Amino acid sequence: MMIKRYFFFVLIISVLMYAQQSDPTYKKVSKTISLGEYAPQDIVMFMGKPISKRIVPDLKRLIKAAKQDGLTLKPVSGYRSYSHQVKTFKRWTDRELKKNPRLTRKQAEAIANTYSARPGHSEHQLGTTVDILSSENNYKFSSDQKLKYVSWLEKNAGRFNFKISFPKDGTEYVYEPWHIRWYPSKWYPPKK
Ligand SMILES: [Zn+2]
Repeated sequence: MMIKRYFFFVLIISVLMYAQQSDPTYKKVSKTISLGEYAPQDIVMFMGKPISKRIVPDLKRLIKAAKQDGLTLKPVSGYRSYSHQVKTFKRWTDRELKKNPRLTRKQAEAIANTYSARPGHSEHQLGTTVDILSSENNYKFSSDQKLKYVSWLEKNAGRFNFKISFPKDGTEYVYEPWHIRWYPSKWYPPKK
Protein backbone atom coordinates (compact mmCIF):
# COMPACT_ATOMS: atom_id res chain seq x y z
CA MET A 1 0.00 0.00 0.00
CA MET A 2 2.76 2.42 0.97
CA ILE A 3 4.66 1.62 -2.21
CA LYS A 4 1.60 2.19 -4.38
CA ARG A 5 1.03 5.53 -2.74
CA TYR A 6 4.67 6.46 -3.27
CA PHE A 7 4.49 5.71 -7.00
CA PHE A 8 1.29 7.66 -7.34
CA PHE A 9 2.99 10.63 -5.67
CA VAL A 10 6.01 10.40 -7.99
CA LEU A 11 3.72 10.20 -11.00
CA ILE A 12 1.86 13.37 -10.00
CA ILE A 13 5.11 15.28 -9.41
CA SER A 14 6.47 14.14 -12.79
CA VAL A 15 3.34 15.26 -14.61
CA LEU A 16 3.48 18.66 -12.89
CA MET A 17 7.16 19.09 -13.72
CA TYR A 18 6.54 18.12 -17.33
CA ALA A 19 3.66 20.59 -17.60
CA GLN A 20 5.87 23.40 -16.30
CA GLN A 21 8.70 22.57 -18.68
CA SER A 22 6.45 22.48 -21.72
CA ASP A 23 4.82 25.81 -20.81
CA PRO A 24 7.01 28.46 -22.47
CA THR A 25 6.04 30.92 -19.70
CA TYR A 26 8.90 29.32 -17.80
CA LYS A 27 11.23 28.97 -20.72
CA LYS A 28 14.31 30.99 -21.42
CA VAL A 29 14.12 32.70 -24.80
CA SER A 30 17.30 34.09 -26.29
CA LYS A 31 19.24 34.66 -29.46
CA THR A 32 20.05 30.96 -29.47
CA ILE A 33 16.87 29.54 -27.90
CA SER A 34 13.81 29.73 -30.12
CA LEU A 35 10.11 29.37 -29.38
CA GLY A 36 9.55 28.02 -32.86
CA GLU A 37 6.09 29.02 -34.04
CA TYR A 38 4.56 28.77 -30.55
CA ALA A 39 1.38 30.79 -30.07
CA PRO A 40 -0.23 31.34 -26.63
CA GLN A 41 -3.94 30.59 -26.36
CA ASP A 42 -4.96 33.22 -23.81
CA ILE A 43 -4.43 36.51 -25.61
CA VAL A 44 -6.78 39.32 -24.60
CA MET A 45 -6.81 43.03 -25.36
CA PHE A 46 -5.56 45.24 -22.53
CA MET A 47 -5.36 49.02 -23.00
CA GLY A 48 -5.51 48.37 -26.72
CA LYS A 49 -2.67 45.85 -26.80
CA PRO A 50 -2.78 42.06 -27.11
CA ILE A 51 -1.33 40.35 -24.04
CA SER A 52 -1.63 37.06 -22.19
CA LYS A 53 -4.61 37.08 -19.82
CA ARG A 54 -2.55 35.70 -16.95
CA ILE A 55 -0.44 38.88 -16.67
CA VAL A 56 -3.37 41.30 -16.55
CA PRO A 57 -3.76 41.45 -12.73
CA ASP A 58 -0.07 42.15 -12.09
CA LEU A 59 0.19 44.62 -14.96
CA LYS A 60 -2.85 46.49 -13.65
CA ARG A 61 -1.27 46.65 -10.18
CA LEU A 62 2.01 47.91 -11.66
CA ILE A 63 0.30 50.69 -13.63
CA LYS A 64 -1.76 51.70 -10.59
CA ALA A 65 1.29 51.84 -8.31
CA ALA A 66 3.17 53.96 -10.87
CA LYS A 67 0.20 56.32 -11.03
CA GLN A 68 0.35 56.73 -7.26
CA ASP A 69 3.98 57.74 -7.71
CA GLY A 70 2.97 60.33 -10.31
CA LEU A 71 3.75 58.36 -13.46
CA THR A 72 1.36 57.56 -16.30
CA LEU A 73 2.51 54.33 -17.91
CA LYS A 74 0.96 52.39 -20.74
CA PRO A 75 1.85 49.26 -22.66
CA VAL A 76 2.79 50.13 -26.24
CA SER A 77 3.56 46.62 -27.39
CA GLY A 78 2.53 43.17 -26.20
CA TYR A 79 2.12 39.86 -27.95
CA ARG A 80 3.85 39.52 -31.31
CA SER A 81 3.10 36.47 -33.40
CA TYR A 82 5.78 34.57 -35.27
CA SER A 83 4.64 35.97 -38.63
CA HIS A 84 4.61 39.51 -37.21
CA GLN A 85 8.25 39.02 -36.17
CA VAL A 86 9.19 37.82 -39.65
CA LYS A 87 7.92 41.12 -41.03
CA THR A 88 9.50 43.26 -38.29
CA PHE A 89 12.92 41.67 -38.56
CA LYS A 90 12.88 42.07 -42.32
CA ARG A 91 11.95 45.74 -41.95
CA TRP A 92 14.92 46.40 -39.62
CA THR A 93 17.28 44.47 -41.89
CA ASP A 94 16.10 46.43 -44.93
CA ARG A 95 16.65 49.66 -43.02
CA GLU A 96 20.26 48.68 -42.21
CA LEU A 97 20.85 47.80 -45.87
CA LYS A 98 19.49 51.16 -46.92
CA LYS A 99 21.79 52.95 -44.48
CA ASN A 100 24.77 51.01 -45.77
CA PRO A 101 24.19 49.40 -49.18
CA ARG A 102 27.61 47.77 -49.12
CA LEU A 103 26.52 45.31 -46.45
CA THR A 104 25.45 41.82 -47.37
CA ARG A 105 22.00 40.77 -46.14
CA LYS A 106 23.66 38.50 -43.60
CA GLN A 107 25.71 41.41 -42.22
CA ALA A 108 22.63 43.64 -42.12
CA GLU A 109 20.74 40.93 -40.25
CA ALA A 110 23.56 40.66 -37.73
CA ILE A 111 23.37 44.42 -37.06
CA ALA A 112 19.57 44.32 -36.79
CA ASN A 113 19.91 41.44 -34.36
CA THR A 114 21.75 43.67 -31.86
CA TYR A 115 18.45 45.44 -31.14
CA SER A 116 15.76 43.24 -32.69
CA ALA A 117 15.11 39.54 -32.23
CA ARG A 118 15.08 37.08 -35.09
CA PRO A 119 11.67 35.44 -35.67
CA GLY A 120 10.91 32.91 -32.93
CA HIS A 121 13.48 34.48 -30.62
CA SER A 122 11.40 37.30 -29.16
CA GLU A 123 9.95 37.17 -25.65
CA HIS A 124 7.01 39.09 -27.09
CA GLN A 125 5.89 35.83 -28.69
CA LEU A 126 5.15 34.52 -25.17
CA GLY A 127 2.32 37.00 -24.65
CA THR A 128 3.67 37.59 -21.14
CA THR A 129 6.09 40.36 -22.14
CA VAL A 130 5.25 44.01 -22.70
CA ASP A 131 7.00 47.21 -23.64
CA ILE A 132 5.76 49.88 -21.27
CA LEU A 133 6.37 53.61 -21.70
CA SER A 134 5.61 56.84 -19.91
CA SER A 135 3.70 60.04 -20.65
CA GLU A 136 6.63 62.09 -19.32
CA ASN A 137 8.38 61.86 -22.71
CA ASN A 138 5.26 61.27 -24.75
CA TYR A 139 5.62 57.48 -24.76
CA LYS A 140 8.89 57.46 -26.67
CA PHE A 141 11.36 54.63 -26.33
CA SER A 142 14.22 55.95 -24.26
CA SER A 143 16.61 54.49 -21.73
CA ASP A 144 17.68 57.94 -20.52
CA GLN A 145 18.44 57.48 -16.83
CA LYS A 146 17.00 60.91 -16.07
CA LEU A 147 13.53 59.74 -17.05
CA LYS A 148 11.51 58.87 -13.98
CA TYR A 149 9.92 55.80 -15.49
CA VAL A 150 13.32 54.21 -16.13
CA SER A 151 14.37 54.32 -12.49
CA TRP A 152 10.83 53.51 -11.36
CA LEU A 153 10.74 50.29 -13.40
CA GLU A 154 14.27 49.39 -12.33
CA LYS A 155 13.19 49.69 -8.73
CA ASN A 156 9.61 48.42 -8.82
CA ALA A 157 8.98 45.99 -11.70
CA GLY A 158 9.98 43.04 -9.49
CA ARG A 159 7.26 43.88 -6.95
CA PHE A 160 4.73 42.92 -9.62
CA ASN A 161 6.58 39.81 -10.85
CA PHE A 162 8.06 41.56 -13.86
CA LYS A 163 11.71 41.58 -14.79
CA ILE A 164 13.61 43.89 -17.15
CA SER A 165 14.91 41.31 -19.62
CA PHE A 166 17.74 43.36 -21.07
CA PRO A 167 19.50 45.17 -18.25
CA LYS A 168 22.20 47.81 -18.51
CA ASP A 169 24.95 45.28 -17.97
CA GLY A 170 23.40 42.61 -20.21
CA THR A 171 25.08 41.22 -23.28
CA GLU A 172 22.32 39.91 -25.52
CA TYR A 173 20.69 43.16 -26.51
CA VAL A 174 21.12 46.85 -25.83
CA TYR A 175 19.59 48.18 -22.59
CA GLU A 176 15.79 48.16 -22.77
CA PRO A 177 14.29 49.30 -19.46
CA TRP A 178 10.78 49.33 -21.00
CA HIS A 179 10.83 45.64 -21.97
CA ILE A 180 9.48 43.69 -19.02
CA ARG A 181 8.70 40.01 -18.84
CA TRP A 182 6.29 38.50 -16.34
CA TYR A 183 7.07 35.40 -14.29
CA PRO A 184 4.54 33.57 -12.11
CA SER A 185 5.00 34.80 -8.54
CA LYS A 186 6.12 31.45 -7.15
CA TRP A 187 8.84 31.46 -9.81
CA TYR A 188 9.96 34.97 -9.04
CA PRO A 189 12.77 35.88 -9.05
CA PRO A 190 13.44 33.81 -12.19
CA LYS A 191 16.53 31.69 -12.59
CA LYS A 192 19.12 33.19 -14.90
ZN1 LIG B 1 10.11 44.54 -26.07
